[in-house]
Amino acid sequence: MFAVGLTGGIGSGKTTVADLFATHGVAIVDTDVIAHRITAPGGAAMPLIAQAFGPQFVAPDGSLDRARMRALVFSDDAARARLEAITHPLIRAETEREREASAGPYVVIVVPLLVESGTWKSRVERVLVVDCSVETQIARVMRRNAFSREQVLAIIARQATRDERLAAADDVIVNDNAPLEQLTQQVQRLHQRYLALAGAGRA
Ligand code: ATP
Repeated sequence: MFAVGLTGGIGSGKTTVADLFATHGVAIVDTDVIAHRITAPGGAAMPLIAQAFGPQFVAPDGSLDRARMRALVFSDDAARARLEAITHPLIRAETEREREASAGPYVVIVVPLLVESGTWKSRVERVLVVDCSVETQIARVMRRNAFSREQVLAIIARQATRDERLAAADDVIVNDNAPLEQLTQQVQRLHQRYLALAGAGRA
């Protein structure tokens, strides 16, 4: 199945854009949703996390204690690497399964850290970046999450830069306070392009 990897920084508008592709009947696979599912009660990652980090990282309902894990990996790169060594292969496997099970002309895979995590770029046929200014990101995330400017900046600092992301892009959607209509038009144009590319690949 022809796959478009959709990425962008925090608050850039990935979910908004993915929802617009979905209105065209395109299948959406969201790696954030999968990451949540594998760390929910009974999730495939939970026994491995309990073994590697200890039972104190498992909440009473059997899900990941997200606040505790976030606090650990924010300041400890080795712990982050250990966590990712558990979760990333599971996320990749589940993404592949969903991709193959998808109906529709092609699939859009939402991967927030596509540029950062390397292997994703070679797994998709096309990289689509949702781009906006850092100031727009800050304003949106402060509003949505009630974060301070410093908190948003700290998250942005851990992600790829705008230029690094644009350098990896095959296609770009500009979403600096674009009215919905403008965004819809950009998605419509790209959808036609992806239909053609997916069809050509199949022929
Ligand atoms: P995250 O990485 O944080 O999950 P995201 O890239 O998926 O974010 P969205 O959730 O789509 O981004 O958008 C972030 C916020 O900005 C949302 O509250 C959304 O409604 C708002 N937003 C996105 N695009 C626009 C736009 N063009 N105009 C106004 N608000 C927008």
